[in-house]
Amino acid sequence: MAKYIFVTGGVTSSLGKGIIAASLAKLLQARGFSTTIQKFDPYINVDPGTLNPYEHGECYVTDDGAETDLDLGYYERFLGVPTSQANNVTTGRIYQTVIEKERRGDYLGKTVQVIPHITDEIKRRVRLLGQTGEYDIIITELGGTVGDIESLPYLEALRQFRWDVGEDNCIVIHLTLIPYLAAAKELKTKPTQHSVKELLNAGIQPDVLVCRTDQPIGMDIRRKIALFCNVAVNSVVEAMTVDTVYDVPLYMMKEKLDEVVISKLRLKDRREPDLKAWKRFLGRLKNPTDSVKIGLIGKYIELKDAYKSIYESFTLAGAANECKVEVVTVQSDNLTPENIEQKLEGLSGILVAPGFGERGFEGKIIAARYARESGLPYFGICLGMQTAVVEFSRHVLGLGGANSAEMDADTAHPVIHKMPGQIKIKQMGGTMRLGAYDCDLKKGTLAHKIYKENSIQERHRHRFELNNDYKEKLEAAGMVCSGINPETGLVEIVELPNHPWYLGAQFHPELKSTVEEPHPLFVSFVKACLTNA
Ligand code: GLN
Repeated sequence: MAKYIFVTGGVTSSLGKGIIAASLAKLLQARGFSTTIQKFDPYINVDPGTLNPYEHGECYVTDDGAETDLDLGYYERFLGVPTSQANNVTTGRIYQTVIEKERRGDYLGKTVQVIPHITDEIKRRVRLLGQTGEYDIIITELGGTVGDIESLPYLEALRQFRWDVGEDNCIVIHLTLIPYLAAAKELKTKPTQHSVKELLNAGIQPDVLVCRTDQPIGMDIRRKIALFCNVAVNSVVEAMTVDTVYDVPLYMMKEKLDEVVISKLRLKDRREPDLKAWKRFLGRLKNPTDSVKIGLIGKYIELKDAYKSIYESFTLAGAANECKVEVVTVQSDNLTPENIEQKLEGLSGILVAPGFGERGFEGKIIAARYARESGLPYFGICLGMQTAVVEFSRHVLGLGGANSAEMDADTAHPVIHKMPGQIKIKQMGGTMRLGAYDCDLKKGTLAHKIYKENSIQERHRHRFELNNDYKEKLEAAGMVCSGINPETGLVEIVELPNHPWYLGAQFHPELKSTVEEPHPLFVSFVKACLTNA
């Protein structure tokens, strides 16, 4: 039978529950336990796919085409194991399922209520992962902060779940904040005591407290927290702010979080964790022999979370190249043919980001033109690939006014157009071309050299695509379509052979870059930028 770990958060949001969950999962995985992580999000959207990146950061897409929370990106980067729709569930989805059942008449005349119907659906979603038989341990992160109205059904479901499966099979880790008051020169435990009380109100005694802090918490503070919150002293775990999120697994190991969890869940196999590959990666990350500045051209640059997986993919690809990648953000709104050279000065390459809608698109075209003409390494992702095609059509093919139909529905040359299957779709949520699709690579191309494979699978999230009516013309003028979807003929990769490194991908390579397997396109792009530095 699978064992279950719930991770809750108290005092404030943004404590890093996702990182703690991913770090614990990494340690358990390194000890030979097959582990997965699930996140419940307490908002009413059925998934984050319809949310503006400014609201919620990047939307992380899984192989099975689920649009999910960006914490799943951490789970995959840390564990190297793909997640799926089952790993991210929102309140909206829970209610949708319950309401659909009610409409079908499945509740046989009963009044449908939060308890038991919503809580049962929450518990079913947790069990679903356990029942696959694939995992020894399931870590379920409850989004939001204890005390929020939205969290109540989840806490009640957790209370019941624990009662259902027994305390040896299910533990609760509560993440909390220990603030330091400079005036009093003291770490304060009261917010933690209050948030644990809040949990107790819901009938839940946490087993482990992970304390986020900027100062080390000494034995006296640990004892005090243990006494007032009714946990063992060794179950009070310090989680100090560290240099990078990739330090957290080793920090948690030093604090023996994994040992405490193993003993509470009475797990038998206590093999020492094998973290050789992780440590090798950290060694490279911390001791770069070189550095390079790369521009990220996008319109959501004010919020780092909007391009989370891209930043992390650069970190991972940097480590693979033993170099520090400094990502310099460039607001695409503000680019003009006059200022482009100055805006990109000192950069050894540019990545043009994914995106939706008109704002900032013309700026991206200006950047793409500059990169193509000056030999600056160019990496376009999704909209960044479409940008490259529009730019090439306008300035090399001479198709005046060429555009993506997304930006100009009446363009004379819709070199990027809506995929046929998308034309009739009116509903926004979950209707894009989503998830993993095959892509055949043309031999002898840059893509083929980088992947060293004839066929790959990458993840998608888009409605528009290269218009194949223009493919021949584009190729005749020197743009190579090096990756093609074998079923539909959709162009997935374009590149320019007469350029040091110029490639656009319709898919999102940043979603498949992990600590142990940094994405080959990012690794190669960083290398090309280094050569150009
Ligand atoms: N807006 C473009 C499309 O829908 C690109 C999407 C993206 O960059 N993810 O095709």
